[in-house]
Amino acid sequence: MFKGILLNKTDAGTEAKIADINDSDLPDGDVTLRVDYSTLNYKDGLAITGKAPVVRKFPMVPGIDGAGTVEKSNSALWKAGDKVVLNGWGVGEGHWGCLAQKARLKGEWLVPLPSGFTTKQAASIGTAGYTAMLCVLGLEKHGVTPGKGEILVTGAAGGVGSIAIALLAKSGYTVVASTGRMDEADYLKSLGASEVIDRATLSAPGKPLAKERWAGAVDTVGSHTLANVCASIKYLGVVTACGLAQGMDFPTSVAPFILRGVTLVGIDSVMAPTAARMEAWSRLASDLDKHKLDVLTTEISLAQAIAKAPQILAGQVRGRLVVNVNT
Ligand code: NDP
Repeated sequence: MFKGILLNKTDAGTEAKIADINDSDLPDGDVTLRVDYSTLNYKDGLAITGKAPVVRKFPMVPGIDGAGTVEKSNSALWKAGDKVVLNGWGVGEGHWGCLAQKARLKGEWLVPLPSGFTTKQAASIGTAGYTAMLCVLGLEKHGVTPGKGEILVTGAAGGVGSIAIALLAKSGYTVVASTGRMDEADYLKSLGASEVIDRATLSAPGKPLAKERWAGAVDTVGSHTLANVCASIKYLGVVTACGLAQGMDFPTSVAPFILRGVTLVGIDSVMAPTAARMEAWSRLASDLDKHKLDVLTTEISLAQAIAKAPQILAGQVRGRLVVNVNT
């Protein structure tokens, strides 16, 4: 038996509780993982509250991220005792996830714990941090360099935003943070933002083209914000789009793309191939300042993860919540 969050569908909606789960109930997979830490991502918030249909079957153990030790393996890739990390692949949505003391997974979904990180640090980074790194790599691969000008990060005080700021600042970029929480300006500056702007300047319907300001942007928000970001990107600038915290819509025109040569780069972490994951984790190991990671991380228990789920959806969580599944 092990403890985990179990989601069930009831007439009233999704019910989330801490349950004692039998090992024999674990799903198919060739690796059994003893989970040390999971995290609470925006998507986990959606799964636990049932606010959006990210869970494709019930009962479900949520948790799209996990870091821990291989207990048993029938995979040629891993042996008992290996320290590994899991991010995405539909885990916590269609396959039981890591907000539990054990998970059974496919060996091909795992990456080795990057050297220099503890399982707690790797989980703290989690999908949010690895997505932030994919965004930074996306800017670089499309030719954005620190000399080209300011980089805007939206949803700045959230998980992806906080880590994106730290990574961009480390690479020498001038970072401007957009947030709805101006009282977090000191926090955002401590991560490396040189200026903090109110997200209200970006969130209302805008014009197809605005004054050119940003050489690049990491957008975690979507909707009008992403449209306004595209409208104010400099000639040949680049936007990486990974999120939908404001909305899934994208009310824009082709103007930024056909008149200013703006590039919009889509970022998906869930099904990203292993090579892309390894590249991102290797750069995280070299670039992410561990002191900043500590500053942006709060540790919580499994039970607290249920309580915090509505708060992450309401944009009330700062940085990252790492879940110690053994408390
Ligand atoms: P968080 O909840 O930690 O951060 C989201 C941030 O967005 C909030 O902290 C808030 O920042 C801002 N925000 C919230 N609501 C609104 C709103 N209505 N309008 C404008 N801004 C808002 O989530 P994550 O950082 O974990 O994820 C961010 C987004 O990226 C989510 O939409 C998530 O689904 C997506 N995502 C996508 C991935 C992919 O593979 N494409 C992977 C990981 C995440 P502030 O208070 O600073 O304004």
